[in-house]
Amino acid sequence: MPQVLVVADTADGLAAKPVQELLTLARRFGPPAVVLFGPDGHRAVGAVGAFGAERVFLVEDPLTTEGLVLPRVEGVLAAVAELGPGPLLVLTGSSPDARETAARLSLRLEAGLVTDAVDVAPDGDGRPVTRQSVLAASYQVQAALTTPVAVVTVKPGAVSPQPAGEPVTPQVQRVDVAFSGLARAVRLTARSERAATGRPELTDASVVISGGRGLGGPDAFALIERLADQMGGAVGASRAAVDAGWYPHAHQVGQTGKTVSPQLYLAVGISGAIQHRAGMQTSKTVVAINKDPEAPIFELADLGIVGDLHAVVPQLSEEIDQRR
Ligand SMILES: Cc1cc2nc3c(=O)[nH]c(=O)nc-3n(C[C@H](O)[C@H](O)[C@H](O)COP(=O)(O)OP(=O)(O)OC[C@H]3O[C@@H](n4cnc5c(N)ncnc54)[C@H](O)[C@@H]3O)c2cc1C
Repeated sequence: MPQVLVVADTADGLAAKPVQELLTLARRFGPPAVVLFGPDGHRAVGAVGAFGAERVFLVEDPLTTEGLVLPRVEGVLAAVAELGPGPLLVLTGSSPDARETAARLSLRLEAGLVTDAVDVAPDGDGRPVTRQSVLAASYQVQAALTTPVAVVTVKPGAVSPQPAGEPVTPQVQRVDVAFSGLARAVRLTARSERAATGRPELTDASVVISGGRGLGGPDAFALIERLADQMGGAVGASRAAVDAGWYPHAHQVGQTGKTVSPQLYLAVGISGAIQHRAGMQTSKTVVAINKDPEAPIFELADLGIVGDLHAVVPQLSEEIDQRR
C-alpha cells in the first residue's frame, strides 16, 4: 500500500512540473498515491502513472477547483481514509493555498508538519527527513518527522522531475466527499483571467530574465520582455522594482517572492542582495549585467558583464536576432 500521498495542486496544473517533482521525491518511499481534484482530474491519470503513481484518487466535485482551501482539505482527508491505516506522508506544493491546506491537514490528522522543504527522503526506518533552506539560505535545517502521519510542503525546483523507470497503470478510485457546511459556506462568484503573455510560468521556466532597480523605470522592462521572448524565458523582478510599481508582485524573485531554479538566470540591474539570492541561487547558470563591478551579484554569477544595461541588453537582443 502506498505510504506517500501526493496532493496535486491544481493551481499548478494537474500533472505539470511541480506535481512531477513531488512524485519524483515521493518514489523514494515506494510507489506513491496521488489525489487529483476537479472534473478534469481523470485526464492526468496517464501522466501521473508515468511518474510512478500506483493509486489515483479522483475528487471530482468542482467545489475543489474553485480556489478554496476547505473543500480540498476535506477531499484529501477522504483520500487518506480510503488509503487505510498505516504510516503516511502527505506531500504537497508550497503555494499559499497548498501551505494553508497542509496546515489544516496537519491539525486534522495530528500530523507533524514541515513547510517549504527543499528535500525529503526516508531515514533508515523509512520515516521522512526533510531539509529546509532558511534565513535567506544562510542555514540548512534538517528535521525528522516522528508522528505516524506527516505532512510536508515542498518548494518548486527541489528536484529535477524524473519519470519512473517503468510507467505504472494506476488503480483509479473516484472519491465522493460529503463536504461539511463550512466547506460549502464560501462560493466563488466571479473570476477574471490575467492577460496571457505567452511566456512560461516563472517557477517552471528553464530561462528567467530578471530586472531590478537598475532599469531606472517601468519602461525598461520592455528590454527584459523582448529578451525573455527571444529566449523562450519568463520575466522576473527584484523587490525594489516591484515595490516601485514597475512590475507585478507575481514576478518577484527572492525570499518574499518566488523561488526559481532555471537552467539560466539573467540578472539585469540587480545588485544581488541576500534576499534576492535566496530565490535564485540554485539556478544552474547565473549571468549578471551590472554597471558596478563591485555589485555582490558578481560573487554568485558564472558570467558577469560590467556595463550599462541600456547598451548591453539591446546589443544582446540584436545578436540573438542576427544568429537566427
Ligand atoms: C525581509 C526582506 C525581504 C526581502 N525580500 C526580497 C525578495 O524577495 N526579493 C528581492 O529582490 N529583494 C528582497 N528584499 C530587498 C533586498 O534587500 C534588496 O533591497 C533588493 O533586492 C534590491 O533590489 P535591486 O537589486 O533591484 O536594487 P539595488 O540594490 O538598488 O541594485 C540596483 C543595481 O542596479 C545596478 N545598476 C544601476 N543602473 C544600472 C545600469 N544602467 N546598468 C546596469 N546596472 C545598473 C546598480 O549598480 C545596482 O547594483 C527583501 C528585503 C527584506 C528586508
